[in-house]
Amino acid sequence: GDESVAQNCIFCKIIAGKAPAHILYQDEQVLSFLDISPVSPGHSLIIPTNHHDNIFSLSGEEITAVALHAKRLAPVVKRVTKSPGLAIHQLNGRAAGQTVFHYHMHLIPCQHDTPKQF
Ligand code: 5GP
Ligand code: ZN
Repeated sequence: GDESVAQNCIFCKIIAGKAPAHILYQDEQVLSFLDISPVSPGHSLIIPTNHHDNIFSLSGEEITAVALHAKRLAPVVKRVTKSPGLAIHQLNGRAAGQTVFHYHMHLIPCQHDTPKQF
């Protein structure tokens, strides 16, 4: 279900400082950190600090905070990884391939002609 903090959510534990992560940025509304199993170097995740399983329960204010952080972080990730491209994707529901049920946006640096996944 959706609560502001979910007991067994790994991303809520990272927000609370109770699980390790390479954190890039954190404020009251959002957190960004490196993916533990990166598709490419610099693969980053952005999450809202409130727990939501996926986009369906996220408020406009929360998704706006995620999007504004993505707008700031994307050029930094692109520059630091010297990537000519950056893929952003976001899965909602098991049927879509979602595996962690705390809303997150992926930022994936692309070096060359990455095949489209969708
Ligand atoms: P999804 O498939 O749900 O869109 O993506 C979940 C992502 O979370 C995957 O890319 C996976 O590697 C990442 N992930 C899962 N558990 C952890 C964790 O404990 N720490 C970090 N940093 N990333 C995780
Ligand atoms: Zn959570």
